[in-house]
Amino acid sequence: MTSSPAQPSTPEVRPVSAHDALIVGAGMSGVYQLYRLHELGMNVRVLEAGTGVGGTWYWNRYPGARFDSESYSYGYSFSKEVLQEWSWSEHFAPQPETERYVNFVADKFGLKPHIEFKTRIAAARWQEDTGTWLLTSEDGRSWQAPFLITAVGPLSAPTLPRIRGIDSFRGEAYHTGLWPKHAVTFEGKRVAVIGTGATGVQTITEVAKTAGHLTVFQRRPNWCKPLHNGKITPDEQAEIKASYPAIFKQCEESFACFLHNIYPHDTFDLAPAEREAFLEKQYQTRGFALWMGNFRDLMTSREANAVVSDFVARKIRARMKDPGVAELLIPKDHGFGTRRVPMESGYYEVYNQPNVELVSIADTPIEEITPTGIRTMARNFEFDMIIYATGFDAITGSLDRIDIRGANGQRLKDKWKGGPQTFLGIQVEHFPNMLMLVGPHTALGNIPRSIEYNVDWVTRLIAHMRRHLSTRVDARPEAVSAWTDFVHEKGKGLLSNEVDSWMTGVNQNVEGKNVRTVARYSGSAPAYRRRADAVAANGYSELRFD
Ligand SMILES: Cc1cc2nc3c(=O)[nH]c(=O)nc-3n(C[C@H](O)[C@H](O)[C@H](O)COP(=O)(O)OP(=O)(O)OC[C@H]3O[C@@H](n4cnc5c(N)ncnc54)[C@H](O)[C@@H]3O)c2cc1C
Repeated sequence: MTSSPAQPSTPEVRPVSAHDALIVGAGMSGVYQLYRLHELGMNVRVLEAGTGVGGTWYWNRYPGARFDSESYSYGYSFSKEVLQEWSWSEHFAPQPETERYVNFVADKFGLKPHIEFKTRIAAARWQEDTGTWLLTSEDGRSWQAPFLITAVGPLSAPTLPRIRGIDSFRGEAYHTGLWPKHAVTFEGKRVAVIGTGATGVQTITEVAKTAGHLTVFQRRPNWCKPLHNGKITPDEQAEIKASYPAIFKQCEESFACFLHNIYPHDTFDLAPAEREAFLEKQYQTRGFALWMGNFRDLMTSREANAVVSDFVARKIRARMKDPGVAELLIPKDHGFGTRRVPMESGYYEVYNQPNVELVSIADTPIEEITPTGIRTMARNFEFDMIIYATGFDAITGSLDRIDIRGANGQRLKDKWKGGPQTFLGIQVEHFPNMLMLVGPHTALGNIPRSIEYNVDWVTRLIAHMRRHLSTRVDARPEAVSAWTDFVHEKGKGLLSNEVDSWMTGVNQNVEGKNVRTVARYSGSAPAYRRRADAVAANGYSELRFD
């Protein structure tokens, strides 16, 4: 080894790149927001941690990854050309196709030159003297602009379980949300999957096809429903392309922007045989029909919910060879639909295979990850590969991971310690000119429909400011209180808000996230839009402009 003479250290002065707006994140939200701000003639920079566009569909390359929204209800609706030029191949497209789709849109509108990839933003500071946000990346580069738009994703901050010895494992280890680009094979390998949420269910079904032996570690089972995916035939393709206006109208009018809408009857309005027939029809219908298209009292009445839970439990029992395993797979601590319902394609049958074993870590918790496998209270397992399907620090996690400081120097994360407080899920008091897409307290559901609405709302607000030569916008405290109260009110009486899940802000793998908060707006998307439309129509009196 040669040694070089010591150099005098001069601090590197790096230029700050200046823009009209900065967008953090190049998923469905960031890409569309960039397109809209270009229409206003603005100089915009998008800062993205990954090396490509797509967000969720860039990172989640795990086997079996696909969405549960019908493809044609998920894609963007804003461009008639894109709707006609792009052809979805399946009713529920797999991840590679959706990643290609977002690339297709970004290329078509020439958006990529405005995106800086491999750029993870570590800090954002509001600078009162210049009226700009200063953003700094993990590697020390800086950008500034009057507007900061966060498009960092509701499910994009992956979390690993807090288990002793996790770094000691010498085999292959992957988190589903950080899946590598290189090929991963399971043939002949002893594979462990930890986690049985929506992602775990997809992963397990796929890995079980080829793994030498698969062991699934389940903390709690979820209620799953068959997806009923299939290829889109040429006739269906023609029908879809001709029906886009009707498809999006249906999404716009439904409670959560899906093609499925709540059935306008209570569970006990129907006689038992009629009720059973209705549930059977929804079970056999594609996608979220049994969840989003169920009786209107499913989420508010324990008795009603018990009827549907019992229906699904019977379905699970009928599909399983071993009654003991069936009971392990039937949730006992929450009712159907009160946590995210995973969609499955042969999930339960996987446990009938001789190469698959289910281990309940509620009964025998994992004590540690060892260099060669996993040790539970009861057994020592040896593995070639461990897959963590342990999800995300949801909704606020990706914002919490950035050190965001507003006008009074307060950190956003500290301000939200007891739960988020927002105006329309878009603004936060004392964080001027910061506009959030798919943040907490906004309508979610079939998310791209809410993304398009929020992006259009934000774009209208910025256009309004440019017209009126205002340079600073902040939410009035009374508007924030009113919206936050409204969001809390909407959550009252919902069975889903009595259950620990990422939807109630609980994640045992994240410090400080063991108490339920109201991070999610649980009202209808049309009600959200009515309120947000009224704000714009009334000249934004809830906001303070300077
Ligand atoms: C496996 C999976 C399946 C899903 N299925 C459905 C479905 O069926 N229907 C549905 O409606 N929704 C589904 N979702 C939710 C999905 O996240 C949304 O539909 C949508 O893709 C969100 O888009 P987004 O652009 O807001 O966020 P994302 O797609 O998450 O993009 C956020 C981007 O921000 C970047 N980023 C985050 N922090 C930083 C930082 N500090 N610096 C720089 N860049 C940063 C990330 O790298 C990422 O690329 C699913 C999510 C997952 C994980």
